[in-house]
Amino acid sequence: MTGVSTGGCLCGAVRYEVRGPLRDVLVCHCEECRRWHGAPAESTAAPRDRLTLTEQRGLRWVGSPRSDARARRGFCGECGSSLFWDAPGRDYVAIAAGTVDGATGVRTAAHWYVSQKGDWYQLPDDGLPRHEASAAASGTDPSA
Ligand SMILES: [Zn+2]
Ligand SMILES: [Zn+2]
Repeated sequence: MTGVSTGGCLCGAVRYEVRGPLRDVLVCHCEECRRWHGAPAESTAAPRDRLTLTEQRGLRWVGSPRSDARARRGFCGECGSSLFWDAPGRDYVAIAAGTVDGATGVRTAAHWYVSQKGDWYQLPDDGLPRHEASAAASGTDPSA
Protein backbone atom coordinates (compact mmCIF):
# COMPACT_ATOMS: atom_id res chain seq x y z
CA MET A 1 0.00 0.00 0.00
CA THR A 2 1.31 3.41 -0.88
CA GLY A 3 0.06 6.80 0.19
CA VAL A 4 0.03 8.13 3.69
CA SER A 5 -0.90 6.31 6.88
CA THR A 6 -1.75 8.16 10.04
CA GLY A 7 -2.04 7.06 13.62
CA GLY A 8 -1.78 8.11 17.22
CA CYS A 9 -2.42 7.45 20.87
CA LEU A 10 -5.73 7.14 22.65
CA CYS A 11 -6.02 10.81 23.60
CA GLY A 12 -4.46 12.50 20.57
CA ALA A 13 -1.45 14.03 22.32
CA VAL A 14 0.77 11.93 20.06
CA ARG A 15 -0.03 11.75 16.34
CA TYR A 16 2.12 10.59 13.46
CA GLU A 17 2.14 10.21 9.72
CA VAL A 18 3.98 7.64 7.58
CA ARG A 19 4.60 8.26 3.91
CA GLY A 20 4.75 5.07 1.88
CA PRO A 21 4.08 1.48 2.87
CA LEU A 22 4.17 0.14 6.39
CA ARG A 23 6.22 -2.97 7.19
CA ASP A 24 4.40 -6.21 7.85
CA VAL A 25 3.68 -6.85 11.51
CA LEU A 26 6.03 -8.76 13.81
CA VAL A 27 4.63 -10.21 17.00
CA CYS A 28 7.22 -9.91 19.76
CA HIS A 29 6.84 -12.17 22.76
CA CYS A 30 9.87 -10.88 24.66
CA GLU A 31 9.57 -10.03 28.31
CA GLU A 32 10.14 -6.32 27.80
CA CYS A 33 7.46 -6.01 25.13
CA ARG A 34 5.05 -7.98 27.31
CA ARG A 35 5.63 -5.69 30.25
CA TRP A 36 5.35 -2.55 28.19
CA HIS A 37 2.27 -3.50 26.16
CA GLY A 38 0.74 -5.76 28.80
CA ALA A 39 0.71 -8.54 26.20
CA PRO A 40 2.79 -9.59 23.20
CA ALA A 41 3.64 -6.60 21.02
CA GLU A 42 2.31 -6.43 17.48
CA SER A 43 4.39 -3.90 15.62
CA THR A 44 4.59 -2.53 12.16
CA ALA A 45 7.46 -0.21 11.26
CA ALA A 46 8.47 2.60 8.98
CA PRO A 47 11.76 3.98 7.72
CA ARG A 48 12.86 6.75 10.06
CA ASP A 49 12.87 9.36 7.28
CA ARG A 50 9.28 8.58 6.32
CA LEU A 51 7.84 8.92 9.83
CA THR A 52 6.71 12.40 10.86
CA LEU A 53 5.34 13.33 14.25
CA THR A 54 2.40 15.64 13.64
CA GLU A 55 1.62 16.04 17.38
CA GLN A 56 4.11 15.22 20.09
CA ARG A 57 3.11 17.18 23.17
CA GLY A 58 2.42 13.90 25.00
CA LEU A 59 5.43 11.98 23.71
CA ARG A 60 7.80 10.60 26.34
CA TRP A 61 10.65 8.11 25.96
CA VAL A 62 11.78 5.41 28.33
CA GLY A 63 14.81 3.16 28.05
CA SER A 64 14.27 -0.53 27.54
CA PRO A 65 16.72 -1.82 30.15
CA ARG A 66 17.56 -5.27 28.82
CA SER A 67 17.03 -4.54 25.14
CA ASP A 68 19.54 -6.36 22.94
CA ALA A 69 19.36 -3.33 20.64
CA ARG A 70 19.63 -0.67 23.41
CA ALA A 71 16.24 0.56 22.29
CA ARG A 72 14.06 3.26 23.74
CA ARG A 73 10.28 3.13 23.79
CA GLY A 74 7.99 6.04 23.05
CA PHE A 75 4.64 6.44 24.77
CA CYS A 76 2.03 9.06 25.50
CA GLY A 77 2.58 10.60 28.91
CA GLU A 78 -1.01 11.85 28.98
CA CYS A 79 -2.98 8.67 28.22
CA GLY A 80 -0.34 5.94 28.55
CA SER A 81 -0.57 4.48 25.05
CA SER A 82 2.49 2.56 23.86
CA LEU A 83 3.57 3.70 20.40
CA PHE A 84 7.19 3.46 19.29
CA TRP A 85 10.30 1.31 19.58
CA ASP A 86 13.45 3.04 18.44
CA ALA A 87 16.97 1.63 18.50
CA PRO A 88 20.17 3.47 17.61
CA GLY A 89 21.60 2.39 14.28
CA ARG A 90 18.34 1.07 12.89
CA ASP A 91 16.97 2.82 9.85
CA TYR A 92 13.39 2.14 10.91
CA VAL A 93 11.19 2.82 13.90
CA ALA A 94 8.75 0.17 15.07
CA ILE A 95 5.19 1.37 15.56
CA ALA A 96 2.52 -0.39 17.62
CA ALA A 97 0.18 -1.72 14.94
CA GLY A 98 -2.90 -0.98 17.00
CA THR A 99 -2.19 2.75 16.88
CA VAL A 100 -2.57 3.01 13.09
CA ASP A 101 -5.80 4.68 11.96
CA GLY A 102 -8.11 2.50 9.88
CA ALA A 103 -6.79 -0.10 7.45
CA THR A 104 -3.06 -0.73 7.66
CA GLY A 105 -2.62 -2.68 4.41
CA VAL A 106 -0.21 -5.07 6.14
CA ARG A 107 -0.43 -8.52 7.68
CA THR A 108 1.32 -10.45 10.43
CA ALA A 109 4.63 -11.88 9.18
CA ALA A 110 6.45 -13.62 12.05
CA HIS A 111 6.78 -14.27 15.76
CA TRP A 112 9.87 -13.05 17.59
CA TYR A 113 11.32 -14.08 20.95
CA VAL A 114 9.06 -17.09 21.31
CA SER A 115 11.58 -18.37 23.87
CA GLN A 116 10.25 -15.69 26.24
CA LYS A 117 6.54 -15.98 25.55
CA GLY A 118 4.00 -15.87 28.35
CA ASP A 119 2.61 -19.17 29.59
CA TRP A 120 -1.02 -18.07 29.54
CA TYR A 121 -1.50 -18.28 25.77
CA GLN A 122 -0.65 -20.60 22.91
CA LEU A 123 1.17 -19.54 19.78
CA PRO A 124 -1.38 -19.56 16.95
CA ASP A 125 -1.19 -22.31 14.36
CA ASP A 126 -0.67 -19.69 11.66
CA GLY A 127 2.24 -21.25 9.80
CA LEU A 128 4.36 -18.12 10.29
CA PRO A 129 8.09 -18.24 11.09
CA ARG A 130 8.90 -18.42 14.79
CA HIS A 131 12.22 -17.06 15.98
CA GLU A 132 13.69 -17.95 19.35
CA ALA A 133 14.99 -14.39 19.63
CA SER A 134 14.94 -11.66 17.02
CA ALA A 135 15.31 -12.46 13.35
CA ALA A 136 17.78 -9.57 13.19
CA ALA A 137 20.12 -11.60 15.41
CA SER A 138 19.94 -14.55 13.01
CA GLY A 139 20.39 -12.39 9.92
CA THR A 140 16.93 -12.98 8.53
CA ASP A 141 15.30 -9.75 9.68
CA PRO A 142 12.44 -9.25 7.21
CA SER A 143 12.61 -5.53 7.87
CA ALA A 144 16.27 -5.23 6.96
ZN1 LIG B 1 -2.30 10.09 24.51
ZN1 LIG C 1 10.04 -7.52 22.26
